[in-house]
Amino acid sequence: MFEQVVEVSEAFRQSAQQMQGSLHMALKGCPQCGTKQVIASPDLGLCEECGSELAVLPRE
Ligand SMILES: [Zn+2]
Repeated sequence: MFEQVVEVSEAFRQSAQQMQGSLHMALKGCPQCGTKQVIASPDLGLCEECGSELAVLPRE
């Protein structure tokens, strides 16, 4: 019983890491000046260059 629980939690931990990895791969960009940044937090925030709202960029 105990070993099964360990396996499940290990699989859950790995899938959680993969989800985090894909999140870090996502890019956000500024439609005004074209700045691109890696999304590192849930908030997109504002462009450091011109202060415009950043948008999520589609995967290429
Ligand atoms: Zn900008």
